[in-house]
This record gives sequence, C-alpha cells and structure tokens, in this order.
Amino acid sequence: MLSAVCSVLPALLRLVQDGSFSGTDGGGDWKVAMESRSDQPAGPLSVGQAGPGDLAQQLDQALAEVYSLHELAKLLASSIELGQVVAYILDGLCGLMGTESSFLYGYEPGPGNFKLLGAHGPVGELPAVVPDKASHWIIQAAQSLKPVVLTTGDLALAVTALRSHDALQGLVGIGTRASRQFTPAELERLAASSHLAAMALESARLYARIQTLAVTDGLTGLYNHRHFYEELHREIARARRHNTPLSLLMLDIDHFKVFNDTFGHVRGDQVLRLVTGILQRSIRDTDLAARYGGEEFAVILPDTGPAEARRVAERIRQRIAEATFPGQATITVSIGVASLVAQETAPALVRRADQALYRAKQAGRNRVCLNGELDAQDGGQTPAQFVAP
Ligand code: GH3
Ligand code: MG
Ligand code: MG
Repeated sequence: MLSAVCSVLPALLRLVQDGSFSGTDGGGDWKVAMESRSDQPAGPLSVGQAGPGDLAQQLDQALAEVYSLHELAKLLASSIELGQVVAYILDGLCGLMGTESSFLYGYEPGPGNFKLLGAHGPVGELPAVVPDKASHWIIQAAQSLKPVVLTTGDLALAVTALRSHDALQGLVGIGTRASRQFTPAELERLAASSHLAAMALESARLYARIQTLAVTDGLTGLYNHRHFYEELHREIARARRHNTPLSLLMLDIDHFKVFNDTFGHVRGDQVLRLVTGILQRSIRDTDLAARYGGEEFAVILPDTGPAEARRVAERIRQRIAEATFPGQATITVSIGVASLVAQETAPALVRRADQALYRAKQAGRNRVCLNGELDAQDGGQTPAQFVAP
C-alpha cells in the first residue's frame, strides 16, 4: 500500500505549484495566493485578478494537495505500531514533498531528549541523540512551528517541529539536493503534513508505552509474571521444534523478611533493584529474566542444558553473595534449576525448578540445586545473615 501511495503522490504533486494565481467568477475579480506563513492553515485562497484557465488549474492544484494530505492521513491511521508509523512518516513525507531523504527524531522531556527514530535516503551523518545544547535551541525554535531551512554539504534540509495536543513530540526533516530550493508553498505543505505526522507519532508512542507497561514489573523493570509465562510457552515450543535444550532458574532471596524488618521496605526495594542488575549482567541477551513474584525471580535460558544452567546459576549466586547492599548487609539467594524434558508443559517445568529451589532452602540456603539431585558441592557455606551497620 505504501509503495502505491508513494508512487501516486509525486505524480499528483507535480500538479501543485507555488505562487499566486487569479480568476473571475462573474461577480467580481479575485486572486488566489499561496501564503508562506506556516502558522496559518495551509489554505491557499485569496481574491484578486485571474482568468478561467488559471482558476481551473488552481483548483486542480488545491484539490491535489488536499488529496495528498488525505492519503498521508489514511496511511498514518492504518497502523499504531511505532516502527511502522515512523516508516510511513519518512516515506510519506518524501512522496508528498518530492524529496529524496527524510529523518525523524522523537522528543522526551529530560536530558538527551531528541532521539533518532529513523531516517530515509541520503541524509548524511545524523547523531543518534541531539546534544542537549542544540535541543534547547530546537525547543525554542519549535514554538513557532515554522519549518527552518538549512544547507549542509550538498543537501538542503527543511526541518520542522512535531507538536500534538500542544506538546512537542519530536522533529522531522526532509532533504534534497542543495541546488533545489524549497518554495514557500512546499514549506506550507511540510508544516501541514507535520501536524498529521505529530498526531500519528503521539498515538504510536503512547501505544508502545502502554505495551511496555503491560509486560514490565514497575519496581525492577524486569518482565512481569504474565510475560514470563508467555515467553516460556514460546521458548518451550521453539526448543521442541529445533530439538534444543532449555533450562529454567527460579531464584529466591534468603530471609528477605528479616532484611525488611531490619532495614525497612525502602531499602528492601533497593535490594530488589540491585539483585535485578546483577541478574541482568550475569545472563546472555538471549536469556530472559523476570520478576516472578515478591522476592522471587525466574530466568529462562534457551539453548542451555543442565550443566551450563548450573554454571550460570552458580555465577549469579556468587555475585550476589559478594555484592555490597544497603546497610552493609549480606544478601544471599537460593536457586533451583530444571531443564526441559520431553512433552513437559511450562507449569510443570516451573514446578520442578520450584522443587529444586525448595530443596536449596532446606539444605541451608545460599546454594544452587538441580531438580532431581541435591549436590552438596553446589552450596555456599553460610546461611544468609544481615549485619547491621
Ligand atoms: P526464605 O529464605 O525462606 O525465602 O525467607 P524469606 O523471609 O525471604 O521469605 P518469606 O516468604 O517469609 O518473606 C518474603 C519477604 O519478601 C516478605 C516480604 O516483605 C518481602 N517482599 C516481597 N516483595 C517485596 C517488595 O516488593 N519489596 C520489599 N521491600 N520486600 C518485599
Ligand atoms: Mg519467596
Ligand atoms: Mg525469600
């Protein structure tokens, strides 16, 4: 659909020209002029002198422009997925403006607030994040909503802010050969289409944020219980399809109630975040860590058999035992490990990892146990204890 629209739009836009034109409707002379002010609606009409041929041509042009904007709006409304919307904005603007390149930055309040979301065609070197000094200038310039024209190397760029619901969403730029100059009418068109782009971008980013919130645990930023099960189902199906191993770790902080009673829940929350950091640094990108519940974590290890899973668990256990926590307390964890067996379901695998965890607790805590065995070699030497400062 995109390519169809993109091929139609430039053809239509060739009908659209800049400047002023005029006509007569029998009731008096009138003139139509394209205003170059970007803080006005894109409407091009004002009354003056004109001939009938000019009038027909002008109406065709105005119609083509409205049609093009309508097509862009339809395209942008056809998706809510951020990556897709960004691609539509970039492609759509090139088609609408007849330029070779475009780029888009998303805005978030705070430092490093303009982040590159995508680029299309030859745009030269674009920073992934706009430096804060330049951001400040852009935010000020954005108040006017007028496109700014810049020349860099052999590119002429027209850049405009994206605002929706009176909030800055980002900025968008189009680029073309420096020899071609942007006309006031083209800048009008860019300003008009940037309103559509801003609304689409805002909706897509909101949707992406809601999706992230739906799968994330608010305290630790890890995946939540529900997403953990979704992923576990997916990984089990994949392991079965490719006949590869899969292991699961269930981790529980030892005597965490005592820690909370001693140091308070705020420090307890800090511990949960610190343990999360250690977990994430101890696993591969392809592994998945989740907060299973209170002070319990789960880690899915795809392509990992029992021996390797035990090594990973032991590494995690050791790093946590050696880390410094608030109040100079010692924190230890117990970890149960289970590896997928034929036809096993996700809940059954979790149950077996839980059994191993239970046995690690029973054996004195601060240790790793594999399901089906309780290996004395695996454990730490001392049970968890908290040392008050
Ligand atoms: P065990 O070694 O047997 O696991 O003992 P435990 O004290 O860790 O286990 P228990 O189930 O008795 O207590 C779990 C504690 O975890 C109790 C609860 O206050 C704490 N906890 C659970 N979720 C949170 C949380 O989000 N923040 C804080 N600070 N504490 C939490
Ligand atoms: Mg627990
Ligand atoms: Mg516990």
